[in-house]
Amino acid sequence: MDNLIYFDYAATTPVRPEAAEALTAALGQFGNPSSRYGYARQAAQRVKEDRETVAQAFGCSSAELFFTSCGTESDNWAIRRGVELNHRKGTHIVTTNLEHAAVLETCRDLERQGYEVTYLKPDRAGRITVEQLATALRPDTALVSMMLVNNETGVVLPVADCVKAVKAFDPAILFHCDAVQGFLKTPEPLAKLGADLIAVSGHKIGAPKGIGALYVKKGVRLRPLLTGGGQEEGLRSGTEATAQIAAFAAAVRACAADSSRLERTAAIKEYTLSRLKEAVPKLEVIDPGDAPHICAVTLPGYKSEVIVRVLGDRGVCVSSGSACHRGKPSHVFAAMGLPKPWLDGALRLSFSPDSTREEADALADALRDAADSLFTTLS
Ligand code: PLP
Repeated sequence: MDNLIYFDYAATTPVRPEAAEALTAALGQFGNPSSRYGYARQAAQRVKEDRETVAQAFGCSSAELFFTSCGTESDNWAIRRGVELNHRKGTHIVTTNLEHAAVLETCRDLERQGYEVTYLKPDRAGRITVEQLATALRPDTALVSMMLVNNETGVVLPVADCVKAVKAFDPAILFHCDAVQGFLKTPEPLAKLGADLIAVSGHKIGAPKGIGALYVKKGVRLRPLLTGGGQEEGLRSGTEATAQIAAFAAAVRACAADSSRLERTAAIKEYTLSRLKEAVPKLEVIDPGDAPHICAVTLPGYKSEVIVRVLGDRGVCVSSGSACHRGKPSHVFAAMGLPKPWLDGALRLSFSPDSTREEADALADALRDAADSLFTTLS
């Protein structure tokens, strides 16, 4: 679509030119990395180098980094095989009500299989404290799963401190972190969190959809989720997606080389919020977001799905919450205990370092017009 005004980078990002170029080049070199002849060995060598690139951005060794098909697969692998690894310890899991469906639905599935799950409830600001987590731990806790950056509010959870608290309680408890919205969006490399398992996804950072990774800390003997030909050191079978892997590494390199990206993203978010407050006085900020690329706002009493559709008709893309909710009210905003009119009108805005002031102005105009023309349940 021409003149697209896109403020939904947490749902997905456009493929960066560097990633598209690497993808096309890798498609042209079609060898299977597992084949034994020289032509295919080149593909294996490229995957090795790409793994080193992504591992470097994680701050980990390339032996700790495994490619998967997406963040959802990484979360499933970490949680399902993590609890299995600690089965003898117990069947209790701790997670939060803020997690993405990739974690929540996996936990619910495990509940059906006999696991017991404690869901930590956020406060009104969408935050979870270390103390809250510490009091939920039990002698039979097998695994903790906590996200780094919430995909709807941009709140950054205190994962590093939570890891310390969990390990002080019992070093055998596995800590999984869904860092799909945090990879290259927070200043510290992810391995510094100290978690045992960390999931990320390529399409949130300018790689195409269909590529993710799981960090498995050295010494954690996670079994594979997918068995078969023994790729990825026997831990994730399936012929390596060489082109997606090349694109993922290229996107990582491009992000890492752009040292002002976080500051630029935070600055355009701040500008957008101030323009929106000016143009639409009824707008309330649910959370300005700690992470530079996400914030949540609401037009109390309006229906966010209607606003999203009306803006979409003008080529302006925002989200009424996680794109995975398909029209259902956001479980994150509900868990925060927002009043119903705030829940109804909740919108997520998400940014790239290259989002412009002109785009922010266009969003402010479109939202003002929508608020003026649409029906509200409040007088
Ligand atoms: N976790 C979080 C926090 C997300 O925001 C998403 C996607 O929106 C996922 C997991 C799932 O990632 P993927 O789309 O790569 O499966």
